[in-house]
Amino acid sequence: MSDATPADLHHILDSQRAAFLQDGPPDLKQRRADLRRLKAEILKRRTEIVRALKTDFGQRSERESAIVELIPLVQSINYMIAHLGCWMKPERRHVSAYFQCGRAWVVRQPVGVVGIIAPWNYPVSLALVPLATAIAAGNRAMLKPSEFTPATSAVIGEIVQAIFPPEQISVVTGGGDVGAAFSALPFDHILFTGSTAVGKKVAEAAARNLTPVTLELGGKSPVVIAPGFSMQRVADRVAFGKLTNAGQTCIAPDYVLVHENDRDAFATAYQDAVKKQHPGGYVGSPDYTAILNAHHYGRLSGLIDHAEAQGARVIRLGSDSATDHILAPVLLLDVTPQMAVMQEEIFGPVLPVLTYRTLEEAIAFINARPRPLALYYFGGNRAERDRVLKNTVSGNVTVNGTLMHYVQDDLPFGGVGDSGIGAYHGKEGFMALTHARGVYRQGRFNAATLLQPPFGRLADTITNLILR
Ligand code: NAD
Repeated sequence: MSDATPADLHHILDSQRAAFLQDGPPDLKQRRADLRRLKAEILKRRTEIVRALKTDFGQRSERESAIVELIPLVQSINYMIAHLGCWMKPERRHVSAYFQCGRAWVVRQPVGVVGIIAPWNYPVSLALVPLATAIAAGNRAMLKPSEFTPATSAVIGEIVQAIFPPEQISVVTGGGDVGAAFSALPFDHILFTGSTAVGKKVAEAAARNLTPVTLELGGKSPVVIAPGFSMQRVADRVAFGKLTNAGQTCIAPDYVLVHENDRDAFATAYQDAVKKQHPGGYVGSPDYTAILNAHHYGRLSGLIDHAEAQGARVIRLGSDSATDHILAPVLLLDVTPQMAVMQEEIFGPVLPVLTYRTLEEAIAFINARPRPLALYYFGGNRAERDRVLKNTVSGNVTVNGTLMHYVQDDLPFGGVGDSGIGAYHGKEGFMALTHARGVYRQGRFNAATLLQPPFGRLADTITNLILR
């Protein structure tokens, strides 16, 4: 596919908007049928998708691709199909005594044409879950996948082309320049997934058109381990969250905050957990994924080298291949907040461990930094857990685990502050991409009509009754 020109983008948007206005919003039956067709086409091309992901990454676990890309995607489509009827129903609202016998209700209206911009790290699910959500909400959509996963973008383009006309759904390709032109289009909503830096540019461009945005961004998601908690289970789950997709996950546990007395126990348990999950090593492994490209491999190596030069203890848990950009897991001890690895989102299999003396210290450490996309808390004491949850703010939380909040279809998924604006998944996705239109139907009798000129004594009595 060749890159879209600004003229192409405008033409597609105009034709989608015209079709939306002409055909009106699709009914429940149509939306369900579209979602079913999307799901069927994804399943039909399952092998193709997994192969394309492997081509783009060089080495990407086929099983992991099916588990972390396709299962959440298909599960979320199933969930939307099952619950859409309920979400689409008009919702009756309260009418105060003075406006009886009127009726009030809220209708969720499709907004029109939604622009979706996707990143490279989970290029299938982070493009197609937003797309399915736009369809469920009754919208038309234009989707721009990442330029860094061309093979996967091609398959996504074929999936869409096979089942939807371009005036309903279109896939356009291109890099940052196309992304910039795309986000400057007067969409009815933009759903962007990517970095905080680019998210700010998208928000700026969208603001010029007063286009509402949902921004799904990144950041540093901390793990807090309560004092004295059993380390084996923690280490196993942190390793799973950190090593899935080789740490190239927006909600990967970025760093660990552990009590100073438990630090060594955690470090030992983490090394054991990593070895247990990847007994065969990393280079050429069917269960481990490469770093996307040389740029990110170099960036991660730079973070490790900088930490080492600043006095961190670097524990490498396997051999790497710079040629194939495969980076084995790395544990970093004696880390300070000033090190580069603690200044930016890591997005790789490198785990810095920091220690605290009191939980308050850990809470203050988190609160002194931008609000994270995810927070992970491990501990058995409910009061301590509540203290950490109550006194911190993050997009989402998983307690005693990692990543799992993402796959709960009935939970909103999104960030807060630097990690994002708004949320999607399940009902919240439907709400984000529809307009809540309030409707009031005035009844034959309406006390409020007594409050219009010519005003009399009755108007005074009612006014005084209301203003009690
Ligand atoms: P990125 O921000 O570099 O790119 C994302 C998309 O934006 C790409 O399609 C790109 O072409 C496009 N783009 C680039 N410049 C643009 C511009 N000026 N205007 C509009 N669009 C532009 O992000 P990435 O490197 O692809 O992905 C990694 C980042 O995404 C990480 O920070 C990660 O945490 C975050 N992320 C967040 C989530 C989430 O759900 N919150 C999920 C995955 C990744």
